[in-house]
Amino acid sequence: MKDSSDFDVVVIGAGAAGLSATSELLKKSKSVTCIEATNKIGGRCYTDNSIYDLPCDLGAHWLHSLSSNQIAEYGKQHKEDFEIYKIEEKFLVYDGKMQADGNDLFAIIDKLKILKERFSNPELNKNFIDVPFSELIPNAIKQHEWYHTAHQAIGACLEGVDFNNFTTADAYLNFKHNGHGDGFVKEGYGTLLAHYRKNLPVNLNTIANEINWSGPNLKIETNQGTIKAKACIVTASTGVLNSDLINFKPLLPLEKYEAFAGISLGSYNHIVLQFKEDFYKHFNIQKDEYFFSKINSLSSFPKGCFGTLKLHNSNLSYFDVGGNFALELEQEGEKASIDFVLNTLRSSFGNTIDKYLIKAHATLWGKNKFFGGSYSSAQPGKAHLRNSLKSSVAEKIFFAGEAISSNYATVHGADLSGKDTALKVIEVLKL
Ligand SMILES: Cc1cc2nc3c(=O)[nH]c(=O)nc-3n(C[C@H](O)[C@H](O)[C@H](O)COP(=O)(O)OP(=O)(O)OC[C@H]3O[C@@H](n4cnc5c(N)ncnc54)[C@H](O)[C@@H]3O)c2cc1C
Repeated sequence: MKDSSDFDVVVIGAGAAGLSATSELLKKSKSVTCIEATNKIGGRCYTDNSIYDLPCDLGAHWLHSLSSNQIAEYGKQHKEDFEIYKIEEKFLVYDGKMQADGNDLFAIIDKLKILKERFSNPELNKNFIDVPFSELIPNAIKQHEWYHTAHQAIGACLEGVDFNNFTTADAYLNFKHNGHGDGFVKEGYGTLLAHYRKNLPVNLNTIANEINWSGPNLKIETNQGTIKAKACIVTASTGVLNSDLINFKPLLPLEKYEAFAGISLGSYNHIVLQFKEDFYKHFNIQKDEYFFSKINSLSSFPKGCFGTLKLHNSNLSYFDVGGNFALELEQEGEKASIDFVLNTLRSSFGNTIDKYLIKAHATLWGKNKFFGGSYSSAQPGKAHLRNSLKSSVAEKIFFAGEAISSNYATVHGADLSGKDTALKVIEVLKL
């Protein structure tokens, strides 16, 4: 990259939001360059094909809001390349030892969902409340024997934070319900995103270290040289913005740093196990079957995993951990994460599972400095700060990405946010 490069806009990051912003600016014939710190595009939506010789989504893999998800729609239009299907939910519930009918678990899940919806939806609740969700849950629910399992399934593994770090005010203020149903794409969500944004020019291995906005134009210092531009669109996660990876010179207004810290990244990881086909036959496991194992943890947060077995009818099974427990396992490392899942499976299926195991891998998103966690969640009392996160600085520094989007923590939301911010830049700068 030449030191003297002059662009109208520099897009920082080539995840869903950065690719979308770059695409929109190029479509409108604007002068733009996109830089990406890692050696690949996709960010938190990336499909690996090397670990198992099969597509394996290391980040996003549910196509949320399937009925209105524009990336899924693109995939459906490319039938020759992608097999997209709506998930038909099937459940396998274990009480820690024996298979259970799951009725008690789903009754608690339903109660928690109703409670969440009541406080998240301005049409159902006129009083805005921004407190830890755990404070809104009646003791009768908390004391139920399946509560920890339900907490893990629709708390830690959905929001990346436990109920004591989660506020329904985030949805109340910031998110829209649009679209329904969840889908999968057999080739991997990352593969689909890369196809959707194919042929976009991206400068890989280019890390923005400093954004100097003191002069009439921006100077962005990278490990590959200086880039000058009228504006930049920052799509790095709030985990990155809350670290010292990107230095703003002069400092940004205080409210921006409060927002980076208050809309922090949660923890959520996939532990993927590859089993011999006989494992699935022996235990009569069906395609995409959801697996729950009762959590009896006495800890203040749930210590367990939620599984999707025989994903896409392949021999891979995903096990997800979230919240404080994911953070704890992440600190201990990949082996500890895999061992935890194997022990959970042994208690349900018996020690015979070991003979079926081929390979295992665990993601550690929080340990990667270019992400710093899974996806954003407003800390209790901080839901209003998403507005500060969205605001631009001096008509030069603009922000986009999942944390800015009104579609909670999703790839298609990040994609929409990239486009919206690109259009805003064009309008504000009269490009
Ligand atoms: C484990 C996991 C599971 C998930 N599951 C789902 C799911 O099932 N469905 C769903 O819709 N969503 C899911 N999500 C969320 C989804 O992946 C994200 O919301 C979305 O991909 C975020 O896109 P983004 O462009 O905002 O950010 P990112 O993907 O983080 O892109 C930002 C890019 O900026 C780069 N960058 C950072 N710092 C710098 C720098 N200094 N210089 C240059 N580049 C930099 C990063 O390398 C990254 O590529 C999941 C996320 C995780 C982690």
